[in-house]
Amino acid sequence: MDNLSLLQRSRQALWHPCTQMKQLEAVPPLPVARGEGPWLIDYEGRRYLDAISSWWVNLFGHAHPRINAAICDQLEQIEHVILAGCTHAPVVELSERLAALTGLSHAFYGSDGASAVEIALKMSFHYWKNRGRPEKCGFVSLAHGYHGETLGALSVTDVALFKDTYAPLLRVTHQVMSPDWRHAEPGESPEACALRAAADLEAWLEAHAAATAALILEPLVQGAAGMGMYHPVYLRRARELCDRHQVHLIADEIAVGFGRTGTMFACEQAPSPGPAGHPLPGAEGRGGAALRVADIADFVCLSKGLTGGYLPLSAVLTTDAVYAAFYADETARGFLHSHSYTGNPLACRAALAVLDLFEEEGVLEANRAKAARCTELLAEVAAHPRAAHFRHLGMIWAFDVRDAQPGFAAEASRRALARGVLLRPIGASVYLMPPYVVGEAEMRLMAEACLELLQPQ
Ligand SMILES: *Cc1c(COP(=O)(O)O)cnc(C)c1O
Repeated sequence: MDNLSLLQRSRQALWHPCTQMKQLEAVPPLPVARGEGPWLIDYEGRRYLDAISSWWVNLFGHAHPRINAAICDQLEQIEHVILAGCTHAPVVELSERLAALTGLSHAFYGSDGASAVEIALKMSFHYWKNRGRPEKCGFVSLAHGYHGETLGALSVTDVALFKDTYAPLLRVTHQVMSPDWRHAEPGESPEACALRAAADLEAWLEAHAAATAALILEPLVQGAAGMGMYHPVYLRRARELCDRHQVHLIADEIAVGFGRTGTMFACEQAPSPGPAGHPLPGAEGRGGAALRVADIADFVCLSKGLTGGYLPLSAVLTTDAVYAAFYADETARGFLHSHSYTGNPLACRAALAVLDLFEEEGVLEANRAKAARCTELLAEVAAHPRAAHFRHLGMIWAFDVRDAQPGFAAEASRRALARGVLLRPIGASVYLMPPYVVGEAEMRLMAEACLELLQPQ
């Protein structure tokens, strides 16, 4: 097998995701024969650094021995079984461990991020219906937010390029101001910008909460908006407002979960309630310890890193209160939603191996040191006159290229690939989101690739 014949066959037989296929003539896809840690290797042995973690899913590199071994072991036992009417140890153990990590005690599984979003939206609406408030059927989300491509998820997404074509098929939802600090007014701090966005949410909820089931948001980082980042005070304010107005808060941690922002989950970075705030359920008895997801969200959507980037699996975790509203003699009060591969044992075993790695290898702490070093190596990029809004959180770095020409993203990908780095800028936003196993040499290579993209074409 060589690179060229594979490319031709790929163009003939496949329809690539999120791609205008005609453009593949100019920018052919990278043929990947195998992977090794943070590296992808083509059919001719050339190596490319996977600086975007294969679309934000990979955590510990490719072909990780422990995750491989867990999947192989599971394969010898049971590869898949229906989860309606059956159960198995991997899915039970995973649910228990995710509940312990998030404080949200009931796990429902899907296959992709978008299916998790659909589940959370339907569950929230159905909760209010079961509670005698069927008129609470609307959803509010953040401007520039992204929650997936299926019709429900796209309805709460706000990316014109993905959404506008399908507008006639979608539910009408409302978007409130994004707290992304790139939208700050001159002289306004990120925190002040987030509080201004929270005031916009407040005004909207005051008028519309009675017909609203849930607010859905990406905590701290709006990925598809080009890694827009915002001050965590927004999460605290959003929780308070949702409590006051009886609206659910759905945290879409599909991209940011599992250590990506520096904590296991992004919601954990929300500031604790001030003296004026209510002591939060769950925050008590933990001696002022960091918040858990349950202190911010009624639902959390997880996918992407959940299996370390190995297998499609998503989960929605929610509270006892939501669960209880469905628990009844009447069948139709139950959540009658399903996907064929719900709770797939191979995927659950991969996820359990991922959680083992976090527990046993001090990943979050090691990432802190690594991230500090990477930020140091990116100092020249951050200070570059063509780099605007350089930003960093956990294991994500991003900047916007001033005066980027049309077609910048495709051209930048091509140039980075020629240097041996797989990048996929979003419009004029260049971001790095590497697997956590990158070392000094890989971080240097990423910094060089970024500097190269800032050179005039
Ligand atoms: C990727 C993503 C999704 C959709 O997940 P898929 O697995 O691609 O369906 C939803 N929300 C966020 C925040 C994402 O980054």
